[in-house]
Amino acid sequence: MTLPVANPGGIQPCCYQHALAADAVFCGECGKPILRCMAFEECGGLVSDDGCCNVCVRPQLYLDKDAVTEVKTGGVLVLPLVFYNASGIGRPLFITDVWIREGESPRRRIELPWKRLDAGGSNRLNVQTGAMERQGRHGIEITFAAATNYFMREERFAFTSSLSLEVEQGGSLVINQTINASGVGAGSDTVYAPIRLETQGETRKAAVGGQAAELGLQRADNFEAAHGVRGYTDGPLKGSVVNRGARIVWKGFGADEPVPGAITTRDSIIAIGRGKSIRAGGDNFVQLLTLDSNGVVDEQLSQAISRRHLELFIQGGRLCARVTGQSGVFIGENKHGADDALAVIGNGDVIRILPKFPDALALQVRMRANYGHIEEITITRVPAIPEGAQR
Ligand SMILES: [Zn+2]
Ligand SMILES: [Zn+2]
Repeated sequence: MTLPVANPGGIQPCCYQHALAADAVFCGECGKPILRCMAFEECGGLVSDDGCCNVCVRPQLYLDKDAVTEVKTGGVLVLPLVFYNASGIGRPLFITDVWIREGESPRRRIELPWKRLDAGGSNRLNVQTGAMERQGRHGIEITFAAATNYFMREERFAFTSSLSLEVEQGGSLVINQTINASGVGAGSDTVYAPIRLETQGETRKAAVGGQAAELGLQRADNFEAAHGVRGYTDGPLKGSVVNRGARIVWKGFGADEPVPGAITTRDSIIAIGRGKSIRAGGDNFVQLLTLDSNGVVDEQLSQAISRRHLELFIQGGRLCARVTGQSGVFIGENKHGADDALAVIGNGDVIRILPKFPDALALQVRMRANYGHIEEITITRVPAIPEGAQR
């Protein structure tokens, strides 16, 4: 496991130090919750609310050295883009979509002849612009979605590069790019050296020292939410994203109720089922047992709950569930079994733990978005464990 030194995600080195303790939940130095990457066992990466691990997900975009312009004839520009995967731990990236937007014109999707980008590997994509005006600025925005997998988990993020093209007197083309700093603690804007494309003569090569020029990339979180790359894509929560550090508030779980907090487990999964809770020396985050009408554990009915029945985690900016229990669960009106793809849980969803006894034990999920961000999720046990109930 490597220990990243510099982390552009704004995670302090102290958090990485404290994350090395297997059961660390908070950083002992700065007090922030330890939010681990889904692939933490492999990458040792931590994430912030945006969920992106900078150890696993490190795309870079270049303009190759043979950019060709036909600006002098008022024609088109071919941008030879090179996508590079700079992941230091050998994790492949999957470029799932590329969009180009010129000026104020609508964004258009570019057909990709490839998808997989192995670590240390690169792939090329030629993008043709519309007709270039001889004078004035021409804005081009290149946005792409990149996915990363770990076992059955997947995260997807969008990145964007904004280029400002200007035709110089004499016909040369200059590409300027500035990355606007955003967010708390960010520094001043990053200004990249301009890329000059000579259009004189027969050999119209990019004069960038014979090398590919790196384009500045910025995480496109608003784009992700608006285009369904992350967050909820329908219903009242459409366009809203669950923060990776969202507080989970547990209600009705009696004496063994977990304290509210972000998901800080080592695999970033909350496992629930019949097996004992972590606090009682077991593997589950929450233990699920059914109670009889006297509030006493119903041993026989509880046997129908698998030791590890359900896994909850935040993925793609949504609360997700994977069923691991044999008898499955009901989520809303739909039955979900162990062979199904993961289920997305939304506000108001009720997870019925035993489909044959739907009223025996259910979890009611509530969440509310604040300016497109969900910072708290309440999971209520129905029926609630009466106070002072025997375990
Ligand atoms: Zn810290
Ligand atoms: Zn990672």
